[in-house]
Amino acid sequence: MAARRADPPARGGLTGSGHGDSVEQVLALLIRTPSVNPLLAPGEGDGEVAVAAVIRDWLTARGVEAWLEEAAPGRPNVMARIGTGGPVLLLCGHIDTVSAAGMSEPFEPVVRDGRMHGRGSYDMKSGVAAMMMVLARLARRPAAGTVLAAFVVDEEFASAGAFAVAARHRGDACILTEPSDERLVLAHKGFVWLELETTGVPAHGSRWDVGRSAVADMGRIIVALDEFDRTVLRTRSHPLTGPASLHCAMVSGGDGWSTFAPRCTLRVERRTIPGESAADAVAELTALVSGIVADAIVRTVLERAPLECPPEEAVARCLAAAITAAGGNAEPTGVAYWMDAAVFAAAGIPAVNYGVTGAGAHAADEWVELGSVERVAAVIEAAARAYATH
Ligand SMILES: [Zn+2]
Repeated sequence: MAARRADPPARGGLTGSGHGDSVEQVLALLIRTPSVNPLLAPGEGDGEVAVAAVIRDWLTARGVEAWLEEAAPGRPNVMARIGTGGPVLLLCGHIDTVSAAGMSEPFEPVVRDGRMHGRGSYDMKSGVAAMMMVLARLARRPAAGTVLAAFVVDEEFASAGAFAVAARHRGDACILTEPSDERLVLAHKGFVWLELETTGVPAHGSRWDVGRSAVADMGRIIVALDEFDRTVLRTRSHPLTGPASLHCAMVSGGDGWSTFAPRCTLRVERRTIPGESAADAVAELTALVSGIVADAIVRTVLERAPLECPPEEAVARCLAAAITAAGGNAEPTGVAYWMDAAVFAAAGIPAVNYGVTGAGAHAADEWVELGSVERVAAVIEAAARAYATH
C-alpha cells in the first residue's frame, strides 16, 4: 500500500466539537508539534511548551477541564480532570521525545499499511493520543469516578514532570501508557548510577618503589565487579523482570605516560529488580569494593526504584478484565527498562503500565499501529469505568 500523509485535524481543528476526531488525526496533530526534550538535545528543544498548549486546548474544546502546571521553568505538564467523586484514577504519559537527528521528515507523519511513522509515534505520543481520546469520551459519557490525567515533560531525561505530579497530586491508582505492545506491565527494573574513585601515589614512571597506580587499583575492582555480575547478580532474578545486573560503563584516569596515575574514576550502572533497594545495592557494592581497595570511594549519583504492582490491586484487575474483554492477552508481564510508573508507586499510588504496539523507540524509523492506539484507548476507557465503581 502506498504511503500517504496523515489526515489533517477534523474540521474546526483544535477547537472543533471533537465528534469527528480519529486516532489518526489526534496523533498526527501531536507529531506535527515537535517536543524534543531540551536537556537531551539542546539545539532541537523547546517544543514541550507548544505541544502542552495543543493538548490543553484540544481537551478544553471537548469539555475536559485542562490546565498547565510548570514542572520546571518553561517546562509545563498538562493536567486534566473529568469527574469529581469516587476513586481517583491517574493516567500518565510523557509529551517529550528523544532527538530527531538522522530522520528525514520526523515531524510529518506518514501512514503506510496501517502504521503511522514519525518521531514520537510510538514513544509515546500514541499513548498521549489514547489518553486524550479516553478523556473526550468520558466527557461525552461520564463515569462514576474521577479521572485525573497527567501529560508530563522530561521523562526522557530526569522525569521532572512525573516527580512534580507525584508531589502535587493524589490518586488512588495510576495507569501509565508507555508503549508495551498491549501487554499489562506490573513490574520493571530500577537502576543506580555509581561513581567509584581510586587514589594512587603519584610518582615518576621510573619510581616503582614509590608510585602506586590508581588505574591498576581500579582494574582489580573492574575484574571483581564483572565477576560479581556474572556469578552473583545473574542468579538473583524476578519472575517478571529477569535478573539483576551491573556493568562498568565509563572509566577514566591517569595524568601521563610516565606518571603513576594519581586518580581513576569508574562509572557503574546497577540494574535493580523488584524487592531490591538502591541502598542495599550500594551497600553491597561498597563492601565488595572496599575489600579490594580499602580506600576506594563509592558515590551514588542517581537512583530510581523498581516497580512491582500485585496483580490483585484493583487497577490491575480492572485493566486485565478490560484487556480480556477486548480479546487481548491479560497475562501480567515485566520489562527490563525503567519507567515513570515507579515514581507513582514510590508515592504510595499502585501503578501499572499498558500501551500500544509498534517499534523504533529512539530509532530513525519509529512507528505505531493505528489500530493498536484505538484498542488501547478503548481498553483504558473500559478499565476507567470499571475502576470508578470497583
Ligand atoms: Zn517513553
